[in-house]
Amino acid sequence: MFNKNPSVSIVFPIFNEEETIKLLYQLVRDVCTKSNVDYEMIFVDDGSTDNSLNVVKDLKNQDKKVAFVSLSRNFGHQSALFAGMSYATGDAVITMDADLQHSPSLIPKMIDLWRNGYEVVYTMKKKYDLPFIMSLVIKLFYWFISKISDIRLSFGQSDFRLLDRKVLDAILEIPEYHKFLRGQIEWVGFRQYGLMYDVEKRHSGKSKISYRKRLSFALDGIFAFSSYPLHLLMSFSIGVAILSFLYICIELTGWMLKALNICPNLIIPHGWVTLIVSVFFLGSLQLMAIALVGGYIGRTYDQTKGRPVFIIKESSVQKKTQAGAR
Ligand code: UDP
Ligand code: MG
Repeated sequence: MFNKNPSVSIVFPIFNEEETIKLLYQLVRDVCTKSNVDYEMIFVDDGSTDNSLNVVKDLKNQDKKVAFVSLSRNFGHQSALFAGMSYATGDAVITMDADLQHSPSLIPKMIDLWRNGYEVVYTMKKKYDLPFIMSLVIKLFYWFISKISDIRLSFGQSDFRLLDRKVLDAILEIPEYHKFLRGQIEWVGFRQYGLMYDVEKRHSGKSKISYRKRLSFALDGIFAFSSYPLHLLMSFSIGVAILSFLYICIELTGWMLKALNICPNLIIPHGWVTLIVSVFFLGSLQLMAIALVGGYIGRTYDQTKGRPVFIIKESSVQKKTQAGAR
């Protein structure tokens, strides 16, 4: 497939990972050397408050295959990934977390699959090291998003993946502000291969992504790839309207039967409970509808502001494309 020795850029988003960076660098360097590819490593410092940036700078001074990009503040995992991808110069890019949960030993397999013609090699976790309820919620999310959108995400996808340059360029051209990269990658198509892998234990420290950020990421996925919730809401409102109309008809018929003395003993309930239930039910439905519509409008608003996905404070490399930043 390739005339020359192909080159691969490996991108690591970093948020306070000072204790892991050096080991990560050594492990990745060793597997890349064995795989016989030209490579570069791009460390994206996503506004770390620890010594991560200095550790990366030291590595850069020792090894010219190392580059770094430092963002002006913490923009979040997806933006940091996107920033690193937009600086990649290789024929392919591999993105992987910097906490060693994504084992570097999978890199040669990914490169082999790419050499065999796959333009995307994505990975799926065999199992989650999370509480049962959380894994169930994630499972439900993958099932739900596949049902309500045109993308078919397999359960357990992570941001550990290889993208051929063609795919990378396509992704960099998508100007969406709220990034849901796994969805975009499924959406752009190309020849894709899914690898199952065991998630390793975090080398040190704790997860840097809070439950609130995970929820907002899941909502980004839903809002970006489906307007089904709006359709669902519309169908539901129509259903409630029809039921209300039927209920009014039944009440009126009862009153008429009683007034005309056809059923004089008919007991018409005063309807207090029905009334209260309807008011609360419809009230909550309206609030939900406003929140849902607000979700779409808020994201449209964010998009129209045209703010960059990330801002660079300093970097050791020149950017290849105009994607995402100032
Ligand atoms: N990360 C980042 N910015 C953030 C949060 C995380 O660059 O705001 C990096 C983090 O340093 C790690 C990767 O993204 O390299 C994945 O984060 P983490 O391990 O905390 O996520 P988890 O594995 O728990 O989903
Ligand atoms: Mg992790």
